[in-house]
Amino acid sequence: MEKLSALLNSGQARTAFIATYANPTCPLCGGKGLLVKENEWQVLQPKDRSGGITRTASEEVFCSCVKEGYAKQKREWERERLKENAPLGTNPDCIWCWGGGWVSRQGMAVLCSAPGCAKEGREAMRRGEKVIRSRGVKTEMTFDSIMKVKGIEESLEAAQEWAKGSLCFVVICGGTGNGKTHLAHAAVGEACKRGDDARLFVVADLLADMRRRMGDNSLEDFVAQVKDTPFLALDDLGMELQTDWAQARLEEILNYRYANYLFTLITTNLNPDSLSERLKSRFSDPGVCRLVLNTASDYRRR
Ligand SMILES: [Zn+2]
Ligand SMILES: [Zn+2]
Repeated sequence: MEKLSALLNSGQARTAFIATYANPTCPLCGGKGLLVKENEWQVLQPKDRSGGITRTASEEVFCSCVKEGYAKQKREWERERLKENAPLGTNPDCIWCWGGGWVSRQGMAVLCSAPGCAKEGREAMRRGEKVIRSRGVKTEMTFDSIMKVKGIEESLEAAQEWAKGSLCFVVICGGTGNGKTHLAHAAVGEACKRGDDARLFVVADLLADMRRRMGDNSLEDFVAQVKDTPFLALDDLGMELQTDWAQARLEEILNYRYANYLFTLITTNLNPDSLSERLKSRFSDPGVCRLVLNTASDYRRR
């Protein structure tokens, strides 16, 4: 309260301070914010020849309503500061932690476990991380971690545009091991991080899964899910298309996605010329589709 006593002696600041914090209906000061304090009688020191007792002059002090108003404001500032540094997922209106995300338990700061607050938020984020992994994405494969080798530029740009949601259909063609798979993982991971429902399937695994599901009648539900996934990456489309069954199911998925403008990214080591005419014809609208040839050489051998 040292600063408060300094304020008492600085006219203008004192007036402003009182105007801000005094309670206008205070029964003690009537809103003036000041009280006159009659100082206590004091026994004068023996060296004082007058002897006896006297009392010092009365002085003005801040009324308790001003001090309380100021203390309340300080708590508000502290809360604001805590809110600014609150862990992700904290409920800013939480009445347990005042939006700061932390509460004290046995002298230790722990994440607030109020419903919908920091602890739940943290757990949700952990689940989110797991969700990304369960969506087939290798989270270490990001746009940042890809080797920016010559020939990859156009594919990289297309994958980034796709992940941002500004290109709807992307096919990346090119040789084995030149970063196409990395691009697909990075693009799906990016879309997941932004909160979009995105999934990556290696085409051969997807088809194997579909065949397995024919046995337990879960195939149609599964295909419906794949069809409607907002962001779908199909990695390593290749020879699978040569069996009629696989070709029919994949075409069904792709036709549906194309008709409904659902974000689809395909990587393939097929040469653009050897893609089926039907597939190629879908990628003829340059506004929403891009067919790129990744000409980077096999970077795994570097
Ligand atoms: Zn008062
Ligand atoms: Zn809380």
